Amino acid sequence: MIAQVIVDVAARQTDRVFDYLVPEGLEISIGSRVIVPFGNRKVQGFVVGFSEKSQFQGQLKDLLLVVDEMPPLTKELVALSADLAQQIFAYRISILKTMLPSVMRANYRKILVPVSDRAKAMPFFAGDVLDLSKISDPHLLKLVSQLLKNGDAEVEYLVEDKAKKKMTVLYTPLLSLEGYQELLTKVKKNAVQQQKLLTDLFENFAAYPKTREQLEGQKISLATLNSAVKKGWLGQKQVESYRKPAVLAKEKSQPKKLNDEQEAAYEAITQDVQERKSQTFLLEGVTGSGKTEVYLQTISEALKIGRTALMLVPEISLTPQMVAQVQARFGKEVAVLHSALSEGERYDEWRRIRRGQAKVVVGARSAVFAPLDNIGLIIIDEEHEGTYKQDKNPRYHARDVAIWRSRYHHCPLILGSATPSLGSRARAQKGLFKLITLKKRAKSQALPRVDLIDLKHVQFAGGQFDISVNLAEAIQKRLDRREQVILLLNRRGFANFMLCRNCGYVLKCPNCDLSLTMHKDTGVMQCHYCGHQEAIPTFCPNCHDRQIRFLGTGTQKVEEELGELFPAAKVLRMDVDTTRRKGSYEKILTAFGQGEADILLGTQMIAKGLDFPNVTLVGVINADTGLWLPDYNASEKTFELLTQVAGRAGRADKEGQVMIQTYNPDHYAIALSQKQDYELFYAKEMQVRRAGNYPPYFYTVLVTIASKNEQNAAREAFNIKRVLMAQLHQPTIILGPAPATVSRLKNQYLYQILVKYKKEDKLNALLHQLQDQAQEIKKYGLTVEIDTEPERIM
Ligand code: ADP
Ligand code: ZN
Repeated sequence: MIAQVIVDVAARQTDRVFDYLVPEGLEISIGSRVIVPFGNRKVQGFVVGFSEKSQFQGQLKDLLLVVDEMPPLTKELVALSADLAQQIFAYRISILKTMLPSVMRANYRKILVPVSDRAKAMPFFAGDVLDLSKISDPHLLKLVSQLLKNGDAEVEYLVEDKAKKKMTVLYTPLLSLEGYQELLTKVKKNAVQQQKLLTDLFENFAAYPKTREQLEGQKISLATLNSAVKKGWLGQKQVESYRKPAVLAKEKSQPKKLNDEQEAAYEAITQDVQERKSQTFLLEGVTGSGKTEVYLQTISEALKIGRTALMLVPEISLTPQMVAQVQARFGKEVAVLHSALSEGERYDEWRRIRRGQAKVVVGARSAVFAPLDNIGLIIIDEEHEGTYKQDKNPRYHARDVAIWRSRYHHCPLILGSATPSLGSRARAQKGLFKLITLKKRAKSQALPRVDLIDLKHVQFAGGQFDISVNLAEAIQKRLDRREQVILLLNRRGFANFMLCRNCGYVLKCPNCDLSLTMHKDTGVMQCHYCGHQEAIPTFCPNCHDRQIRFLGTGTQKVEEELGELFPAAKVLRMDVDTTRRKGSYEKILTAFGQGEADILLGTQMIAKGLDFPNVTLVGVINADTGLWLPDYNASEKTFELLTQVAGRAGRADKEGQVMIQTYNPDHYAIALSQKQDYELFYAKEMQVRRAGNYPPYFYTVLVTIASKNEQNAAREAFNIKRVLMAQLHQPTIILGPAPATVSRLKNQYLYQILVKYKKEDKLNALLHQLQDQAQEIKKYGLTVEIDTEPERIM
């Protein structure tokens, strides 16, 4: 038998499949991870198929090792990787690795395992193994080679084994029950502990192995256990165990009685769950309409018929309440996968899923590749979120992957949002997705009143230009009533940068064409793309004038201002700086939820999914910052953010109010967010998109050419454009090449070509051809990247 293997070799990132002979007796299947000889090295690879024949018959090498007992990838995922590679111009190996937890992506390590007693006695083994990659001491190396030569030790390949958590358990060695009974008669009368242990062994024979903790829990002392091990009553061994990520839910929740709108949604979706139809539903429900309850009850239905469910959320750390709700309903059946877990925790959760021990998976973007079998329902909450598209290779969109998997499993997919992406909504309009709307809030609270505050004609409270008198008064009113306030500082396209008032100079990163952001707490100016840092200047580096200003409003600055305006109020700040540590999001949100603070001030991360009944005022400090980005979806993103954050107010029985401060109250994205009128916004924005030939009227592909040498990048960009022009015709539009918005990144010059098309049968093949050529020109320091349906274009 011949196995077809995709090898993990950086320099050979091609989709070529290599053939290897499978030695007798090796347990192997599609999706197995293997170690194979490659050139004069040994590398990791994945089996993607088998064949009888090979064109290299006779020269084939043997596959060396199958790494895991259970193939880490399912047949489905292997098939998905092939289709996805075609769709998104990514190499298959990068997709296969993305599908795995990070600890499994790394290549193997070589270890030395002792086999003879002589070797085991060597102090450096410490009863374990020796990592060969870690030793450099020549004396030790000599010793190792000697051990190998004499057959005292062997080399093995170890793959991420360190990531597995081990637990010591005590087991009953092979000895009959009678044996234990006999032992019992021999134990001294006053050795109470020993008697107790033997009784336990005798009565609970079947319950072994047990952990030390379990036995100590029965009041059997450590000393007794140790002596029992010594006497041979108990054996001791290491077994694999799982780390338990923190469970956010405190108690179990019961299904709520659905209202009419929820019921209709539930009926439509569960019918397709039962009939195994791969329909995509767009569940458009105003904030607070109870989409979550619909998700939970449809998941129940899938479980009831013996299938599993996959649920994606934008970023778990930002929506801990959603995870908590799923855990509260489904308990131990839930596995969570997201970046706030440690690598080890992720790995353990992933293995629980692969082994079929978890039936419901909740996770962020990459969880769309969770190795669940027999999926009966897929849900993408807040489907409009940009985080569902990966902005580095492989550039997949979780929504498209979910659609693929829903077809494979014949199960429905729910896309939920209060503000669906224009693309999804347009597909629903066309009948490709089925639209279900929830117009009422679940507890029939009114939507909050929204006021726009025109910053051009307003007085500011305090000495800064951040908080208007109107907003300050509204905040004071809530503080007096002991209600809570959420304040949003929109950071999209926004930074504290340095501007010289004398010469107009803006301090930029020396590597990137981007202004540096000031961080007052650490005292540095930092580039948020490449990480470059320098000291905060005291005079202009260009004209040496001291009249420099730091523009922009940071959360820290607003926090200080709030402290001056409302000295008695307790403020919690939530931004990248305060949430860097693991678990800090949850901590801040829990504190706020328990009423430990009056005001929650934060960036975008507070806009989504939060449900705090005592919040009756939401203030937006600056609605416009994202509006003027050179980005076709700037309006959509602004409308979305304002609507989402407005939805955080008045979610319980107290009436909510929203105040949006803006310099552009007449801009439709802002004016319509006041009315929270998605329908009107959709209609208006579609007109704008049509006029500008933007998505969803056109599909887009962005080709980025990068080089340290600007001329080379530009020259190659023009070459590519010429090829595209020759092959593609009206109404396809080819824009560029032009320097990218951020024209220089990490010292690379970037040129971009944007292709907008309605239908181009040849385009995919053409781009693949370009990609293959790109592999060639890599040698000259040029790279070409292809991004289908980019989130931002020029
Ligand atoms: P969405 O996700 O659509 O913004 P949520 O799912 O957060 O809305 O629901 C808003 C509130 O309404 C929550 O507090 C939820 O517990 C409550 N809720 C949802 N459905 C029902 C129902 N059928 N009966 C009573 N309360 C409900
Ligand atoms: Zn930089």
